[in-house]
Amino acid sequence: MSADKNKKNRGHSKSSKSMDGTLKNTKSVTAFIQKRKRANPEELFKKLAKGDRVALAKAITIIESSRPEDQEIAQNLISKSLKKATNSFRIGITGPPGVGKSTFIESIGKHLLKDRKKLAILTIDPTSQVSKGSVLGDKTRMQDLSSNKNVFIRPSAAGETLGGVARKTRETITLCEAAGYDTIIVETVGVGQSEIAVHSMVDAFCLLLMPGGGDELQGIKRGVVEMADLIAINKADEDRIETAKQSRSAFKNAIHFYPTNENGWVTKVLTCSGLTDVGVIEVWEELQNYYAHNIKTGFLKKRRTSQSKFWLHETIINNLKKSFYQNPKITDLLFDLENKVIAGKISPFQAAEQLVKLNKHK
Ligand code: GDP
Repeated sequence: MSADKNKKNRGHSKSSKSMDGTLKNTKSVTAFIQKRKRANPEELFKKLAKGDRVALAKAITIIESSRPEDQEIAQNLISKSLKKATNSFRIGITGPPGVGKSTFIESIGKHLLKDRKKLAILTIDPTSQVSKGSVLGDKTRMQDLSSNKNVFIRPSAAGETLGGVARKTRETITLCEAAGYDTIIVETVGVGQSEIAVHSMVDAFCLLLMPGGGDELQGIKRGVVEMADLIAINKADEDRIETAKQSRSAFKNAIHFYPTNENGWVTKVLTCSGLTDVGVIEVWEELQNYYAHNIKTGFLKKRRTSQSKFWLHETIINNLKKSFYQNPKITDLLFDLENKVIAGKISPFQAAEQLVKLNKHK
């Protein structure tokens, strides 16, 4: 919104109030108040670093904002947060919708908080990119944890591209760590591309599956099983206990055919029930064993280093791609060249080369 428009709106909301005593233009008033409150990143960071949850939530909102003035503050907050070193444990949890992820997190969260101080839960829901929070956002999830003062829960921003959400989630992890959260759970639905992004930002990646049926039957992408550092067959309760045990053996066998993990770790397959809590503490213990092994062997450092490199290159590629397709010279010619490629008048490689050359001479 331009400064003039902003002024007009503020004036309008003021006059609306004086006319009938109600705030007709609440939105612009809220935006104005927020803008004023956001003005001081130093203050905000001080509060955030002391563990103030309101400040943390506000800082994340700034990171999620696409307004240029917010982006400047966001970079400032991230730089400050990066300097505040923490020994956090970042855990990714994925699995098909309905496998019981939120019930499981509620359950493991309670065990985890006996060993660790503070837990942040960030959710990425690729199905909610159009309408806000379809699978993960709207439901009242993790009710017990959400009322715990040592737990911070935040769904991902809606209406974003996956790359955008991934970047913001990664930056949100940094802010949470600066706010003293020593354990971060990033939850995602294992049916899209988001699990690759989550795998590239966590120290341990845990896959939840249902008893009975292989990964394909559960709609899980093949590669996701390979990425898992731990597999838990969830809902191993009631009449599903036997089936869960069979699934466990089947996955254990399948894992032998996968290439050996770089850190020499053999992925374990466990059974548990987030609902009854049976087996959940074992999952938590196994995650801790994995983390300890990686610290001891130096693999954790290596993993985080290669993740940082990955995000550096991902961001470069995404930014170059964006500026390429936004270059008016390119958009002018692209349609024409596309048609020539379709008509077989020019090869796709020649067309691409021509466009890339054109982009270099901006
Ligand atoms: P999410 O979509 O993966 O987050 O799954 P939810 O945690 O929302 O659970 C989906 C449904 O499965 C709900 O009706 C839960 O009550 C049920 N559920 C979750 N965990 C378990 C479990 O361990 N055992 C059984 N029997 N049901 C469960």
